Amino acid sequence: MKTIKPEIITREVERLSIEAATFIEPDVLNSLIKARDNEKGLSKSILEQIIENDEIAKNEFVPMCQDTGIMIVFVEIGNEVFIDGDINDAINQGVRNGYINGYLRKSVVKSPLDRINTNDNTPAIIHIKHTLGDKLKITVCPKGAGSENMSKVKMLVPADGIEGIKKFVKETILEAGGRACPPLVIGIGIGGNLEKACLLAKEALLRDIDDESEDLSASKLEKELLKEINELNVGPMGLGGKTTALAVKINLYPCHIASLPVCVNLQCHAARHKKVIL
Ligand code: SF4
Repeated sequence: MKTIKPEIITREVERLSIEAATFIEPDVLNSLIKARDNEKGLSKSILEQIIENDEIAKNEFVPMCQDTGIMIVFVEIGNEVFIDGDINDAINQGVRNGYINGYLRKSVVKSPLDRINTNDNTPAIIHIKHTLGDKLKITVCPKGAGSENMSKVKMLVPADGIEGIKKFVKETILEAGGRACPPLVIGIGIGGNLEKACLLAKEALLRDIDDESEDLSASKLEKELLKEINELNVGPMGLGGKTTALAVKINLYPCHIASLPVCVNLQCHAARHKKVIL
C-alpha cells in the first residue's frame, strides 16, 4: 500500500493550477501552428496572435487568458493507494493556493443565485474514479465560461442516428460562433444517460489532440465531423476561415435501447489541462 499525504496533493494541485493557466499543452500549440500554416489573410493573422499570446504567457509567466476558469479536477485512485486525509479538502486547498499565489482571476461564486465570489476559486468540481494499482492520477482542467456556456446536451432518439448527431453538433457550433473562442477542441459524449453524456464529453477534452478513438465507428465519426465542422466557415474567433475546430473527440458509453444522449462540450483554443501521476 502506498501512502500519500494530503500536503503532497495540495502542493501538486497548486502547481498544476498555475501551469495550466500559463503553459499551453505542446499538442495544442502544434495544432495551432499547423492551422496557421493552412490559413491566409485575417484567419492566419488571428492564429498568429493566438500563438504569440501563448508564447508571451509562457515567457512572462502570466495567464494565457483573463478567464482562468472554474477548476475541474479528475482523480483516478488505485486500490493500493491510501490518502492520509480528505482528498477533497486537499484538492480544494491546492486550487485555493494556486489561484491566490498565482494571481489568477477568482471566477467562482458561492451560490448561482446570490452570486457572491468565494474569492479563492473554490470549490473545484471534483470527479473521482477508483482503479487498480498504486498510482494516483490528478488532472486539472480549468474551464472558462465562454466555451462552457455554449456547450449543449440533447436527448436524441435512436431514429435520429448519425445524421441527427451531426446536425446537433453542427448547430451547436454555428450557434456558438465566436463566443466559444474558436478554433475549438470539441468533446462529444454519446451514450449513457443525461449526466453520463456530459461527463463523457468533458473527459473527451482531456485526450491528446492527435489521438483517435479506439472504437472504429467513433473514430470515423470524429474524422467526418472535423471535416464538416471546418467547412462551416466559423473560423478563428468566429471571423471566417478553414479552422473552426482543431479536433473532435468522441467518447462512447452503452445506453438504453430507446435513448441516444449526446453532449457537445466546447473547449476554446486555450484547451487547458495538466496532469500528474503520484
Ligand atoms: S473561452 Fe477560452 S479563450 Fe475565450 S475567454 Fe474563455 S477561457 Fe479565454
